[in-house]
Amino acid sequence: MHTTKKIHTFAATMDMEESQEKKDEQYMRKALYEAQQAYDAGEIPVGAVIVCKDRIISRAHNLTETLNDVTAHAEMQAITSAANMLGGKYLTECTLYVTVEPCVMCAGAIGWAQIPRVVIGTMDEKRGFTRFAPNALHPKATVTSGVLEDECRTLMQTFFKSRR
Ligand SMILES: [Zn+2]
Repeated sequence: MHTTKKIHTFAATMDMEESQEKKDEQYMRKALYEAQQAYDAGEIPVGAVIVCKDRIISRAHNLTETLNDVTAHAEMQAITSAANMLGGKYLTECTLYVTVEPCVMCAGAIGWAQIPRVVIGTMDEKRGFTRFAPNALHPKATVTSGVLEDECRTLMQTFFKSRR
């Protein structure tokens, strides 16, 4: 009896993990859609969405060329818009999904906004924050990476190839 119960609990945990994985992929798919919008506009293809209580409250893509503004990264746009949406500057119940590892600036903003969970598509060895400022996020923040990694990376690679 005891064993049965244990197995049951274990199975339930597996289900939960599996469904979180599925959700992560679903939301990353939306971030990828944003990245594609950036790509189509000739912008470096990075997309982001912010999810609060299983609802997307903001979506954004890189707009640095369009706005002629080096701070117009997808994450920055998404954070500003999410704060407007929630009416408060802290995003303590939100998850940020972003197709490419955030840069130092964005990681700083994610930290200031106290976002507790960040889900990353593909890592960015050259410009990603973990290389320069691995402690930029909130101390309790968790990071999940490698969600739809191939698609996120391929979009970036295709973009840079086409520019050569
Ligand atoms: Zn950035």
